[in-house]
Amino acid sequence: MDYTESFEQATEYGNSALKMMKKNGIAANPNNFTVWYHYFSGQIPDLKRTIDILIDNDQAFSEGRNEEIHKKFFTFDMETQAIGDAATRAEAELTRILDYLGVAGDGAAEYGKALEAFSGDISGSGESETIKTVITSALNATREMELQNKSLEEKFNASSVEINRLREDLETMRLEAMTDGLTGIANRKLFDAELRRSAIQAMENGEALCLLILDIDHFKKFNDTYGHQVGDQVLKLLAQTLTSSIKGQDLAARFGGEEFCVILPGTSLKNAIKVAEVIRNKVGKKQVMNRKTGESMGQVTVSVGVGEFRYGEPLTQLILRSDEAMYVAKRSGRNRVVSETMVDSKELSFDN
Ligand code: GH3
Ligand code: MG
Ligand code: MG
Repeated sequence: MDYTESFEQATEYGNSALKMMKKNGIAANPNNFTVWYHYFSGQIPDLKRTIDILIDNDQAFSEGRNEEIHKKFFTFDMETQAIGDAATRAEAELTRILDYLGVAGDGAAEYGKALEAFSGDISGSGESETIKTVITSALNATREMELQNKSLEEKFNASSVEINRLREDLETMRLEAMTDGLTGIANRKLFDAELRRSAIQAMENGEALCLLILDIDHFKKFNDTYGHQVGDQVLKLLAQTLTSSIKGQDLAARFGGEEFCVILPGTSLKNAIKVAEVIRNKVGKKQVMNRKTGESMGQVTVSVGVGEFRYGEPLTQLILRSDEAMYVAKRSGRNRVVSETMVDSKELSFDN
């Protein structure tokens, strides 16, 4: 990042950052300082907006919160590095093309000069022998030019093939970095990024935001009975069921292992519970079949926890609440949906 502020400005931003950190009990380590320096410099509008929203919502700036912000705005991970490398390769390729263009320009200029010289020779000479020599030279120059153009064309073609390959590589890397290898839906990394984005969006437009956490019931037993590979197929089926049960801005992701989650932007808790019930029913109705043998492996069921985002809270809290609700669903019999508001309810039965 480039810094163009004057000595005085930079000192002012730095002092304000230190003052703010001291006031909020935030350790003045480099990461935290980076966050607050940029807040006061306003150089990253999204960072400033995020922090302003948090301040408006009276949110405390804990270590965890600072880390979250730092990670979001300043961490360059391996994938970013790989994408950066690919971009550098693309740039090198473009520079090479520009060099070719320069060579082509030089060649054309030479040819122009040669033709000019010939026309002078022809006009000043009445002898057919001289004219013949001149024309032969002109033809040779033209052939040379043609050869040069052909070799340039080949180089251009090779370059454009390489550039296309780079573009495809970049796209593949981008998708792979965000996709779960087994199920093909969003992975934890994309889930984290999307949940952060959805939370900021919810605060900006005053909409509700809900989260579903789903966990397959007794999946260990299923694996033990039918094998891990059949278990993997079930995970794929569940991912497909999730994808087909959501729409618009919703996002289904594999949270890890046999846990999945669904982000539901612009959705109230009541409606999120409805979506969760639809998913739970769809999953429970499906018979897991072995296509080869026709053998039925019965059903798998899921327990679902539903949480609703409270403006400004750390997202780890929203995840924790939804997770707690999911565990209450497990303890109260599995194959059910429990929302965060039901977690402390005395009405829950714990019979299995
Ligand atoms: P509960 O109803 O309490 O969730 O019981 P459970 O058996 O599902 O839960 P537990 O946490 O004891 O076990 C989770 C199991 O999920 C363990 C493992 O066999 C299975 N699992 C996790 N990841 C994968 C995976 O990628 N593929 C397969 N086939 N199984 C997985
Ligand atoms: Mg689990
Ligand atoms: Mg489980």
